[in-house]
Amino acid sequence: MTHIVVLGSTNMDLVTYVAQAPQRGETVTGREFRTIPGGKGANQAMAAARAGATVSLIGAVGNDAYGVRLRDNLEHSGVDTDFLRTVEGPSGTAHIVVDDQGNNAIVVVPGANGTVDHLSPGDEGLIASADALLLQLEVPLPAVIAGAEAARRHGVRTVLTPSPAQPLPEELLSVTDVLVPNEYEAVTLTGRTDPLDAAVGLLDLVPEVVLTLGEAGVLYVSRDTEPLAVPAHQVAAIDSTGAGDTFAGAYAVAVAEEKPLREALSWAAAAAALSVQREGASASMPYRPEIEAQYT
Ligand code: ADP
Repeated sequence: MTHIVVLGSTNMDLVTYVAQAPQRGETVTGREFRTIPGGKGANQAMAAARAGATVSLIGAVGNDAYGVRLRDNLEHSGVDTDFLRTVEGPSGTAHIVVDDQGNNAIVVVPGANGTVDHLSPGDEGLIASADALLLQLEVPLPAVIAGAEAARRHGVRTVLTPSPAQPLPEELLSVTDVLVPNEYEAVTLTGRTDPLDAAVGLLDLVPEVVLTLGEAGVLYVSRDTEPLAVPAHQVAAIDSTGAGDTFAGAYAVAVAEEKPLREALSWAAAAAALSVQREGASASMPYRPEIEAQYT
């Protein structure tokens, strides 16, 4: 089996469903409240594990009840949590209000994720043993950079989802192999609104870009090849939360397995298309046999 290492965040999403979100100073009664394991690092780790890889997550949870549940949930999906530290204080949380129109407002409190600002003993050895390193930007940048540098030292490919969108330092770009932005992130990073233009603009920063375009599919560009557009699988979408993380996790597995480019993109798009047909982020992520069935 291929081995994927993810360095990133683990959060508990605290989701309140309400007819209309409160205005400043207002108190309203919500309809429902759910706690849902999330965080882009944990989500990508789960997506890759379900897609059929051996996956280890480097990160941190707090020594609270959420930390126990977050770790259990990852282990239940087959993610190795030996390098997920438990630190003093609260786990990361995302406070989400969703109204009846489907609009949301989110406050993220990093909690334990904020302590992931360096590599801990053992992390570099783990990264060295991987076929690919998956990164996002929900833990402090120094750790993301240190992880990518370690990967480069050991010839391990790095796949970075630039979310939340922010300017990327040269130190990180110089050790990033593949950037996987969505449309919003690509526009934020380049200031260009046309997808092809934006993707090509990103090649000034990194050698390979996989731009995800929601129901319009994906656009792959690299410094060495012609652009390649792969359409989304036609499905009835009900909730696109986590589609990008499902895609990134599955794509890393496909690349690590050395699937040909078009197949790797379409295989990951099949995983993402399955996830948008079900509610939730991590809960909606498909297992390998389902991906194989959707792909063929
Ligand atoms: P993010 O969740 O990061 O915003 P996207 O919305 O671009 O990412 O979705 C990631 C991938 O998920 C897309 O490239 C596509 O392959 C798949 N996807 C997203 N929405 C749909 C949809 N409505 N139907 C089929 N596939 C979808």
